[in-house]
Amino acid sequence: MIAKVIVDVPTSNTDRVFDYDIPKEWEEVIQPGVRVVVPFGPRKIQGFVVDVTNDSTFHKTKPIDDFLDVVPVLTSELLSLGEWLADQTLCFQLSAYQLMIPAALRTKVKKELCLLAHIETLPYSIRPHFQGDKSPLWNDLVKDKNVSLKEIQQAVKEGKLEVRYQVEEKGKKKMERYVKVSENTTCDIPTRAVKQRELLAYLQSLGKPIAVQALLQETKMTRQTITTLVKKGVLQEFDKEVYRDPLAGVEYERTLPLELTDQQRDVIQPILDTLETKSHYTFLLHGVTGSGKTEVYLQSIDKALEQKREAIVLVPEISLTPQMVQRFKGRFGSKVAVLHSGLSMGEKYDEWRKILRKEVQVVVGARSAIFAPFTNLGIIIIDEEHETSYKQEENPRYHARDVAIFRGKHHQCPVILGSATPSLESYARARKNVYRLLPLTERVHNRAMPEVHVVDMREELRSGNRSMFSYILLEKLKDRIEKGEQTVLFLNRRGYSTFVMCRDCGYVASCEHCDISLTYHRTQNSLKCHYCGHEEKMPTKCDSCGSEHIRFFGSGTQKVEEELTRVLPEAKVIRMDIDTTRRKGSHERLLSAFGRGEADILLGTQMIAKGLDFPKITLVGVLAADSMLHIPDFRSAERTFQLMEQVSGRAGRHDLKGEVIIQSYTPDHYSIELVKSHDYEQFFQMEMTQRKVGLYPPYVFMVLITISHSELTNVITVSEKVVSFLRRELFESTTVLGPVASPLARIKDRYRYQCMIKYRNEPRLLEALREIRQHFIREINQGDLQISIDLQPYLF
Ligand code: ADP
Ligand code: ZN
Ligand code: ZN
Repeated sequence: MIAKVIVDVPTSNTDRVFDYDIPKEWEEVIQPGVRVVVPFGPRKIQGFVVDVTNDSTFHKTKPIDDFLDVVPVLTSELLSLGEWLADQTLCFQLSAYQLMIPAALRTKVKKELCLLAHIETLPYSIRPHFQGDKSPLWNDLVKDKNVSLKEIQQAVKEGKLEVRYQVEEKGKKKMERYVKVSENTTCDIPTRAVKQRELLAYLQSLGKPIAVQALLQETKMTRQTITTLVKKGVLQEFDKEVYRDPLAGVEYERTLPLELTDQQRDVIQPILDTLETKSHYTFLLHGVTGSGKTEVYLQSIDKALEQKREAIVLVPEISLTPQMVQRFKGRFGSKVAVLHSGLSMGEKYDEWRKILRKEVQVVVGARSAIFAPFTNLGIIIIDEEHETSYKQEENPRYHARDVAIFRGKHHQCPVILGSATPSLESYARARKNVYRLLPLTERVHNRAMPEVHVVDMREELRSGNRSMFSYILLEKLKDRIEKGEQTVLFLNRRGYSTFVMCRDCGYVASCEHCDISLTYHRTQNSLKCHYCGHEEKMPTKCDSCGSEHIRFFGSGTQKVEEELTRVLPEAKVIRMDIDTTRRKGSHERLLSAFGRGEADILLGTQMIAKGLDFPKITLVGVLAADSMLHIPDFRSAERTFQLMEQVSGRAGRHDLKGEVIIQSYTPDHYSIELVKSHDYEQFFQMEMTQRKVGLYPPYVFMVLITISHSELTNVITVSEKVVSFLRRELFESTTVLGPVASPLARIKDRYRYQCMIKYRNEPRLLEALREIRQHFIREINQGDLQISIDLQPYLF
């Protein structure tokens, strides 16, 4: 038998399958989706088996050296998804597969990991124990694998063997003793052994293994009773791994399905029908904030679970708040796994294995949870589908929405894209009936949408108010504090970072490796580059003129907090930003403190814009609505409108009515003006006109090609070649723009140039782009030239 393997040496000329012989005795183990170790040149490297056949296109093949999995880590669906991703995003197939498995599995080849895989192939009863067992079998394995017993003992001591794949982490894998009824036991328990009979009956009625601790607690029996039954062979004891549970100890209140409103019933019906007929549709659930989209998700998932199918729910990383998780845990309890960047590597790995082992049926997670290895998907939900974080900004540059639709087609199940402010692309598709539009136009129980006031900050200045709070905002803040109600104060981080400038000569402190100004961090009194991580001490003198009048400018959350305490000394403020939420769990702590009413004001950046649902929030203040509008990006108006709607949606979600104050220097801009009437439709129309005039998506498709190198002249030469090649190869109706220096012309000492393609229909596109890479392959492989191709660019 021959294994087709994608090897872990990603360069353009190795991005294809290689053939390896499967040693006879491993034929049962080596199947598509397992990871293997193979010889490649002089080295031993890892690879993914993508197929097993019985003939090879090569004349001479080498045998597989070892294997790392017994259970495939990639399903056949994920294997073909990887192929498709590589094709669509021009990434290496290997990178696509690496993306789909948890980071804990992306290790270097290690002897002890192979050893563990071998142990897993053995029947449980003859598996050697890890703790320095001297069984002959163990010794054979050791000999076979060329690992010395000493090495193993060392590995066990360091926890490397016990904690599989968790070499980097401190936490050890925990085992817990379980007990179950033995199969075909013939032993009779005498009638007088009442306790034993009772215990056995209990276990039989339970029908599944139970932890000894839990059993003792529930039955109030003694350990002795269990031991006796084990000795008689009636019961069997074994160790079961305890997962590292990110939510251990958190209690979730169970919730029952709510009686749906008429609108909710109207939108859920087509989803249920699609589930019923096991067919695929992509739905766009367009529901205003507070319209009960989540309840629609929950009841749709219910139906999928009833059908013994599984569900993936994607939410943006920053809204993966405890509140959001709670709504799914509360309904589906232990059927839910959670995947997001706040988990440790070990926790993520364990959550992922619960999916692989079919111990959970629902996953709630951020972008990469779209690759959850379910095999019988019934529904895929993407909440806040307009969020740009669903697009990965590094290779593979995929969009979770596209992957969702691929999987929806594969499993013949519905995909639901939900949002109060859909992306222009999705809404345009819904209008063309590519997606089916499901509208929820009202908040549940006729709760009113919040009333929005837009304050013209230029007027404020004219009337003598130089503070960062308008008169009306200040007044309403005082009012809420008096009434014991709560306020969310939102500061847009982008465009508002604090930079350090010399007041005498105008010099701005910037990173020595990147063309970007450094950001001031008060807590460390230092300057940091947000691109490369470079950090330096806050200067006391200007680097350029030597003046001591060097200060930081702009206003970050810290500055707003100071100002707040000055003007409203009685206000209790909770600040949420990168600085206050750095430690694990602090995000949750701050939010629940606010939920308990321990503060009047929650002040924060993007991370408080979503998912918050507290009954006492009746006021939302936006400090600088237009800071995002001026970012040179064709989506800046769309982002502004989306963000304003999103933030406004935090107010008045329950019985108390909500109000929103938006402070702006461009109050007449339609993206701000239209928030007053919450008129998405009108916004869509106006924005589409802009896109049409400017020739932007969704009217055209765009590709962004970025070329970078440490020598500026090389970058320019290659960029020019790329552009002229594209102009030659592509249709005349296609526009090729550039080359120009990228907005960030230098990052980490590499110069960057870019060109852009705008097209409507370009069948030769993928081929031409691949040719570009092929053409510069020598330079690329020498490692210094980079050509990144983004077929769906989001950040400019
Ligand atoms: P969205 O996700 O659209 O912003 P939510 O799902 O958060 O809206 O719903 C807003 C509030 O309305 C929540 O507190 C939710 O529990 C409640 N809700 C949703 N549907 C119903 C319903 N059918 N009956 C009663 N309350 C509901
Ligand atoms: Zn830098
Ligand atoms: Zn100066």
